[in-house]
Amino acid sequence: MIPHEYIEEVVRRNDIADVIGSYVQLKRKGRLHSGLCPFHSEKTPSFYVYPETQSYYCFGCGSGGDVITFIKNINNIDYVEAVKLLAGRAGMPEPAEDDKVGRMRSRVLAINKDAARWFYACLNSSTEEAKQARAYWRRRGLDDKTITRFGLGYAPNDFRATYLHLKDKGYTDAELLESGLVKRSEKGNLYNIFRGRVMTPIFDLRGNIIAFGGRVLDDSKPKYINSPETLVYKKSKTVFALQVAKKSPNRRYVLCEGYMDVISMHQAGIDTAVCACGTALSADQVRLLSEYADEVVLCYDSDEAGQKATARSLELFRNSPVKVGVLQIPGAKDPDEYIKKYGAERFRALLDGTGNALEFRIGQVRKKYDLAQDKDRLDYVKEVLRLLADRNSPTEREVYAGRLAEETNISKTAIMTQLSDEVKRAGYRRRTENQKKLLHSGVADTIKVPYQAGGQKALGVAYAEQMLAVAMLREPGFIPGVMQRLDPAVLVMPDMKQAVEAIFRCSREGIAVSLANLGAMLPEQTMIELSRLVAQSSDVVPTQKDVEMYLERIAQSTPKSGSANKMTDQELAEYFQTLKNRKQGNPTGR
Ligand SMILES: [Zn+2]
Repeated sequence: MIPHEYIEEVVRRNDIADVIGSYVQLKRKGRLHSGLCPFHSEKTPSFYVYPETQSYYCFGCGSGGDVITFIKNINNIDYVEAVKLLAGRAGMPEPAEDDKVGRMRSRVLAINKDAARWFYACLNSSTEEAKQARAYWRRRGLDDKTITRFGLGYAPNDFRATYLHLKDKGYTDAELLESGLVKRSEKGNLYNIFRGRVMTPIFDLRGNIIAFGGRVLDDSKPKYINSPETLVYKKSKTVFALQVAKKSPNRRYVLCEGYMDVISMHQAGIDTAVCACGTALSADQVRLLSEYADEVVLCYDSDEAGQKATARSLELFRNSPVKVGVLQIPGAKDPDEYIKKYGAERFRALLDGTGNALEFRIGQVRKKYDLAQDKDRLDYVKEVLRLLADRNSPTEREVYAGRLAEETNISKTAIMTQLSDEVKRAGYRRRTENQKKLLHSGVADTIKVPYQAGGQKALGVAYAEQMLAVAMLREPGFIPGVMQRLDPAVLVMPDMKQAVEAIFRCSREGIAVSLANLGAMLPEQTMIELSRLVAQSSDVVPTQKDVEMYLERIAQSTPKSGSANKMTDQELAEYFQTLKNRKQGNPTGR
């Protein structure tokens, strides 16, 4: 069997849209790509590629999977062959040899984790230099919560301390050299590259620490040192704090110049602040950002270098589907300084004030009405509220509601009340539309429509099982909670039972939960089913509340006579029949 680290590397280095794009002409549609299916003949595209989950699915013929499945099917070769072909495409050595690379990767990740713990402990020790390091973070305005949240630390001013500490943890010199934390001197001794610096760990999207940035406490040079590129760290493919930002419901990202700006923005509640890692923005980073953000606000320093970087980044974004704005910061040299001087609220207002599509649309609406007329004014308010209700950020909604109140002389309270009704309605509308799409795409057989007003058996157990699997796949953070509460044996859908068992197994063995890794454990039919589900729910973000609901639904329907796995085939068939009848006897009102 090919080790999962190797497969992960193959998948990581073979972006699904790139790979499929060389077989199929793909068109970008927001976060997705679509094209004519290579597995059946068609005139209008029903073949979709989902960069976020690195999967594809065809709504026409039902083929689907990850990049490996695609290569396997399009070339009609077996799994191992497909992995080898993709490895070759990415210039990787053959799997057997690469076993070692995989092991080294996980050792380096482990070293980084231990190093981050050590730097954090050093920051909080009682030495004089630790005191100064803490004072440094304080001067930058960071509180303890932020320091813990970003895992900030301090590397003691000593050539050997960090090295010896890690050596004590059982890592070999070869592994430590590979991590980039130590170097070999001309005399042949190993020494730390980070000394007397405050430390910022850099995470990948899965939450692994892949590198560090270190800054001196004073103005000596070099001010910043970053980890060199290693097996686990590619500078131009890493976006700092993206692992936090991607969890935010807000899809407007703030792209800053450095770690410090990003960290102080997060402390100020702007949880989509990110930056390129210690270098100018790269095309790869733009691609990565485009997968998560609908809008990016460039927020560089107001000095000449910052303005040049802005122009350069704008150029890079020119062909991306992301809407780009530029924030000019009046009266401060960078966002960090602005926040310290004027506070987070004002900074957020500044951000909301960047010329954007919403403002443009409100302007268009305004032109239709004569605001001196009472009736017109009310219609205008109604229409703008509908626009606002579709926005994800409560701050943004509030700012525009305030402006609307001023403009129309209607009290802000009245406007906010109406707005919150409108937000509820918009949420409901989005969900119904989504369900319509699901029904339309022919999955109604297994799905009972959730959230339907009045319907008691609204959420079908089959649907709950499917959605639970998808939720864990899309947001692995849900897995530990589900593992505590769910015995996969009670699941009635055989393929979902397999899928959930495989997800739990990955989680227990510390393997990243992704379609690619599951693909090695699951039959192809189950993979197709998972890809289909991921495809159909790609625009729903699963929440903790959804997960609760699925779990409850599954618990309710566990047959009293014993769990499904104890039923005979005959009994199981009957059980499915009752589920089906129940659905037919309980029309969804559509
Ligand atoms: Zn097809």
